[in-house]
Amino acid sequence: MSKRRLDTQLIHAGEPEPRIEGAVSMPIFQTSTFESGEAGSYHDLRYLRLNNTPNHLALHGKIAAIEGAEAAVVTASGMAAISTALLSVLRPGDHVIAQSTLYGGTHSLFMEDLAALGIEVSLFPCDEPAQAEAAIRPSTKVLYCESLANPLVQLAALPELAALASKHGLVSMVDNTFASPVNLRPVALGFDLVLHSATKYLNGHSDLVAGAIAGRQALVDVARRKLDHLGACLDPHTCFLLHRGLKTLGVRVRHQNTSALALAQALEGHPNVDRVHYPGLTSHPHYERACELLEGFGGMLSFELKGGGDAAARLVRGFSLAVNAPSLGGPETLVTRPCDTSHKGMTPQEREAAGVSDALIRVSVGLEDPQDIVADFVTTLQS
Ligand SMILES: *Cc1c(COP(=O)(O)O)cnc(C)c1O
Repeated sequence: MSKRRLDTQLIHAGEPEPRIEGAVSMPIFQTSTFESGEAGSYHDLRYLRLNNTPNHLALHGKIAAIEGAEAAVVTASGMAAISTALLSVLRPGDHVIAQSTLYGGTHSLFMEDLAALGIEVSLFPCDEPAQAEAAIRPSTKVLYCESLANPLVQLAALPELAALASKHGLVSMVDNTFASPVNLRPVALGFDLVLHSATKYLNGHSDLVAGAIAGRQALVDVARRKLDHLGACLDPHTCFLLHRGLKTLGVRVRHQNTSALALAQALEGHPNVDRVHYPGLTSHPHYERACELLEGFGGMLSFELKGGGDAAARLVRGFSLAVNAPSLGGPETLVTRPCDTSHKGMTPQEREAAGVSDALIRVSVGLEDPQDIVADFVTTLQS
C-alpha cells in the first residue's frame, strides 16, 4: 500500500481495526481498569494511568503517523510531555544544550526544577549551531530546541542542530507546537523526539489541555514508562476530544497559514506598525530557511506598534474580533502582549535582550474569514 498523506492519516491512522461495534468515530472508554488478560509486566496491565486504553492507543497511532515517527504517547499537558521526555533521559550531573528563546514554562523547568536535580543547561542562539557545538561537554546528553519560537517566530537551524546531536551522540528533542506537523515534520530532519502542547494546534479548539511525545520507539518506550510512574496521563474524555480535533488539523492549519500571511502583509504596510515578525515575510531574518524547511509559514505572528507600550496595551483590548488572551492554535484569533504574559517573569533588561519590547503584540490567527481578521486589525489600528 502506498504511504498515505497527512490529511488521510489524520482521519484513518490509528483507528481500531475492526471498528469497535462498527462505530465510525472512536467511542470513549470511560473506565479506569480492564479485565486482566495475559499481562507480561506491570506496564502491560490495562489501566488508565498506564496509557494503554483503546482511546490512548488510537491517539498514539495517529500522532506517530502524522509526525512520521515510530511511536507516540499522549500526556496530560504539553508541560507533562516536555518534563516527562527530559526526565526519561536525564540523570543528576547531566548537561543539556538548549536554544535560548524557549517557551516560558520550559525555561522555568530547566532553570528551577532540573537545576534542583543537578541537571545543568547551557543556552545557544537558535541560528548558531557553532555556538551550540561549542557548549557541548562530556556530560551533555540532550539537545533541546523549538521548531518556531515565541514570540518573534524564529526558525532554528534545525537540520544542522539534528546533525550536531547525532554526531555527538546526544538525544535531540524539538518542541513542534508552533509549526505543527502540517508545516514541519522534524523526524524527517533527524530529530529523535518531537514534543507537542496538543492544547494548541493538534486539538485546535481552545477547549482542553494535552501533550504528546513522538519519535524513536526505544525512546518513546522509556518516556512512556516514566509517564506511567509520574502519572500525568490523559483522561479518556480528553483523549476523545483531542482525537476529534486532530481530524481537522490539516484544513485548519492550511487556512491559518493563508490568513496569517495576509494579516502579516497588511500589518507590514500599515503606517502605525513599526515591524512585523512572520517567517513568510521576506523581511524576516529566517525567511529563506522557512522557505526551505516549512510547508506553510504558520498561524503565529507578532508586530511592534509605533506608539509604544501604552498604545499596545490599549490596542489589545480594543479589537472587536480578536480576543485578548494567551495560548494559541484555536478557532478564535487571539492577541497578547508577551511582556505581560509569556515573558512577564523576565526583567525589562532580559526582555530587551530577547527582543521583546513593551510595544510587541503576538497574534494567533484563528479560523475567521481572513478579510474580517485583516479589517479588524486595520480598523482598530486606526482608532
Ligand atoms: C503552550 C506551550 C507549551 C506548554 O503546553 P501546555 O499544554 O500548556 O502544558 C509548551 N511549548 C509551547 C511552544 C507552547 O506554546
